[in-house]
Amino acid sequence: MRAAVEIKELSYRFPGRPTPALDRLSFRVEPGECVAILGPNGAGKSTLLLHLNGLLPEKFGDAPQLWIDGEPVTPANLAQIRRKVGLLFQDPEDQLISATVFEDVAFGPCQLGIDGPSLESLVKDCLERVGLPGFEAREPHRLSHGEKRRVCLAGVLACEPAVLVLDEPTSDLDPRGRREFKALLQRLPGAKLMATHDLELAVDLCPRSLILDGGKLVAQGDTLQLLADEKLMLAHGLERPHSLLHRHPHGPAYQLHRL
Ligand code: ADP
Repeated sequence: MRAAVEIKELSYRFPGRPTPALDRLSFRVEPGECVAILGPNGAGKSTLLLHLNGLLPEKFGDAPQLWIDGEPVTPANLAQIRRKVGLLFQDPEDQLISATVFEDVAFGPCQLGIDGPSLESLVKDCLERVGLPGFEAREPHRLSHGEKRRVCLAGVLACEPAVLVLDEPTSDLDPRGRREFKALLQRLPGAKLMATHDLELAVDLCPRSLILDGGKLVAQGDTLQLLADEKLMLAHGLERPHSLLHRHPHGPAYQLHRL
């Protein structure tokens, strides 16, 4: 089967930096799979996400190292790749650029040539999907942080991406906002790749995790088993979440994640 994301020996160094931000990364994400990218600050998580829709590198090499839904990420097909990959930035302020929520959600589909009544009903539908019905005329800068994040997600969903890429999707949300946003993500179809420090989020949504450190993929596998490995966690600046203390890797919660 075609992978939703396939990465082979991907390396990247920011100009002027002595060490690579990504160091020979290889992995696959299957269609419909939800994968967490874990690791300490500076591990390369955001840099990796920016590669997934071609925002990095500045200059492409000769051979592709990244494929989305079977398509290589190359300068020639960046438009196609960006249609397939919906990227949700860590800070919604970086993504909200318009005077109204409608314009913000409509921005992506407009670029894809959708307009008129189809655009209106698409925006309405996406706002309903993220739990913000009737928000079209609201001003994005006057919304709460959680609402801003949902508007960004509506804008991403409006482009019907095959792969959803999320950078710290629950940071800065209060406990209720986090719970609601998590439930929302859980309902979305398609492959999802999320960089996060929220290990509870990884446990609840992502059966599989990758751990990055120093730009390298240092471990990957079943999320509960990785997080239960205290030595591995401590070696890479992570902590076993409290919710795991009472879960055995082969207990009921673990079985639930395998469904
Ligand atoms: P993470 O998302 O895991 O915190 P990043 O991908 O942001 O890590 O950073 C990986 C490495 O690349 C770090 O050493 C960071 O300092 C460096 N880096 C990130 N962005 C830039 C940039 N724009 N210019 C130079 N170095 C950068």
